[in-house]
Amino acid sequence: MDASHAHRHHPVFCTVVPPHLLDKAARSADARRADLAQRTLERDSLLRTRRRVTAVRGIVPTLAAPASDEPDRTIYDAQHRTRLPGRKVRGEGDPLSKDATVNRAYAGLGATYDLFLKGFGRRSIDDSGLALDATVHYGEEYNNAFWDGQQMVFGDGDGDLFLDFTVSVDVIGHELTHGVTQYTANLTYHGQSGALNESMSDVFGSLIKQYSLEQTAEQADWLIGAGLLGPNVTGVALRSMKAPGTAYDDDELGKDPQPATMDDYVNTHSDNGGVHINSGIPNHAFYIAATELGGKAWERAGQIWYDALTGGELAENADFADFARLSTAAAVARYGEGGAEHQALQKAWSAVGVPLVG
Ligand SMILES: [Zn+2]
Repeated sequence: MDASHAHRHHPVFCTVVPPHLLDKAARSADARRADLAQRTLERDSLLRTRRRVTAVRGIVPTLAAPASDEPDRTIYDAQHRTRLPGRKVRGEGDPLSKDATVNRAYAGLGATYDLFLKGFGRRSIDDSGLALDATVHYGEEYNNAFWDGQQMVFGDGDGDLFLDFTVSVDVIGHELTHGVTQYTANLTYHGQSGALNESMSDVFGSLIKQYSLEQTAEQADWLIGAGLLGPNVTGVALRSMKAPGTAYDDDELGKDPQPATMDDYVNTHSDNGGVHINSGIPNHAFYIAATELGGKAWERAGQIWYDALTGGELAENADFADFARLSTAAAVARYGEGGAEHQALQKAWSAVGVPLVG
């Protein structure tokens, strides 16, 4: 990639908890909950603006680092303030911290690095050994986590609606995968290309969890953010790839709005045109392809998705039909015409109502 190309890359500002969920919580009858959700929304909005300003500057291409097969992780503690990165508390190879949050963040960055390297031969987010930094204990009872284009940031949650944001390795993987997408297909964060961007993060986030637990497609929970919802929430996670629309149904947070197929596609102006909503459709296609093939989902289904994402043909403004066509072509290119992989892809895209044309 040349420098002029690198400058066009626009990192997304994606928070683990999408705005539509916090909007609902901000209207809670419970004053404390409403106040906390409102504070998180205001902070996110400020960060989103700041992100846009940084994005205009673009990514400064780093000098090629020597090829390494080891991650380069640093964990910082914001000590409940909002200054980044905060105080360094654990570097690469350092012993365990006394703080379990620090250790979970460190392990989550490592699990993400491992899947991309061992599964797909990719060296870190940028395939050039980019250092992985994370800050924990960000803000006071901050109900979110995000990748700001340069590092991961985790809130502690309020202990009521949300718990410590380092608890789900798939949400750590989700956020870091936004970095991989940013360095590859660079899918525009709006409408269907934005929903594809979100879906890539859910797909590889879930695969990172499955890889670290050595689970097969049948054993996996296919949930994003399992364990993240607080004790007073009716729900199991933020999203379900197996059954989009069923992850939560709660008085304070509302009901999971994700569709599983094109029949229920949601046309909306909020959430960047429903990027966290319609991502349920390509998410479900991946789930069907992976379970159809069986075994370890990252080995074939994940490889096909990775090939389509990084193959150079996926346009920044690609829609679902473009990705269906390219992923099916990737299955044929790697595993052959008419094979189990090709058939699994045809079945998956047909099941979610995305036509395979061209
Ligand atoms: Zn995201």
